[in-house]
Amino acid sequence: MKELIASLRAFFPAEDVLENESMALHTTFRAGGTARVFVRPHSMEDLKQVLSLTVRHDAPYTVIGNGSNLLVSDDGYEGVVVCVRGMGIAGMMNSEIASRMRDAGLSGFEFAAGIPGTLGGAVIMNAGAYGGEMKDIVTRVDALHVLTDGTVEEVSFSAEEMQFAYRTSRLKNDSSYVVTAAHLALTPDDPETIAKRMKELAEKRKEKQPLEFASAGSTFKRPEGHFAGALIEAAGCKGLSVGDAQVSEKHAGFLINRGNASALQIHQLMREVMRRVYENSGVTLEPEIVLLGSFPGQKEALCDS
Ligand SMILES: Cc1cc2nc3c(=O)[nH]c(=O)nc-3n(C[C@H](O)[C@H](O)[C@H](O)COP(=O)(O)OP(=O)(O)OC[C@H]3O[C@@H](n4cnc5c(N)ncnc54)[C@H](O)[C@@H]3O)c2cc1C
Repeated sequence: MKELIASLRAFFPAEDVLENESMALHTTFRAGGTARVFVRPHSMEDLKQVLSLTVRHDAPYTVIGNGSNLLVSDDGYEGVVVCVRGMGIAGMMNSEIASRMRDAGLSGFEFAAGIPGTLGGAVIMNAGAYGGEMKDIVTRVDALHVLTDGTVEEVSFSAEEMQFAYRTSRLKNDSSYVVTAAHLALTPDDPETIAKRMKELAEKRKEKQPLEFASAGSTFKRPEGHFAGALIEAAGCKGLSVGDAQVSEKHAGFLINRGNASALQIHQLMREVMRRVYENSGVTLEPEIVLLGSFPGQKEALCDS
């Protein structure tokens, strides 16, 4: 890792190659340990360089956007976290894209305005809300493909090739692809009408979701034929806590960090909720959030739940 860090520092300013960086600063859960190396590329060329050097040095890596769907282990991540938030199109925040589309009189992205992540993260997760989903508007995805010898190729996928499904896509569990842009099919509409829709959705979110606390949004996927929040509430878990990790009183589908929760406490609470829901309803909840690093009960160091 020392050699890799030296190589990265030869290309990037010191403030963009950080060692032992707290991931609590880069995730909306505000919890978890450190990334051995944390790199912030600012351009496509930077990104290619980081990926290539990392693979050539045989170091594990993961790409993150705004860390709004991520729980990092307290033991940290012994690899390179490449943070693309703010870089290029895929690193733009959904809120900013939504505002730009509104001003341009283009409708269809309103549903994503309140999803607090980047466009790249939304594509990977096939993020959705209030009846809209990325798969409804994405026509093509541009990505980088990192080969095992460190070569980085520019590739492109049609919407069909992306295999979008509920909160997942073809690229979700494959870190050799990094999303760099998405082409969207939007429809012309009056900016004021678009603004009104965005305002209504933002109000709904504020009313229903515990936005005043750190979280990663809905912790679990919606099981077919059910709502995770309702199952969790029915199992008596509303308000249940492990340390500062708590099942939100406002929306049982959200696990929140009331201040100083560790990643382990959040994970323990997740497992307890899953256990109680299964006992009460026979439904197995599946986590929607992505786990990075090792957690009890997992064999792999990097694991998508
Ligand atoms: C308050 C709150 C409300 C939320 N509401 C919603 C909602 O309504 N609907 C919804 O679907 N989600 C919601 N979420 C969850 C989250 O915001 C989304 O999943 C979002 O799309 C994640 O984007 P991100 O940039 O933060 O990705 P991250 O959390 O940084 O990463 C998520 C995954 O994508 C990968 N990834 C990120 N960017 C790239 C890239 N450029 N190339 C390759 N891989 C990449 C990461 O490796 C990771 O596996 C909410 C979260 C919060 C905190």
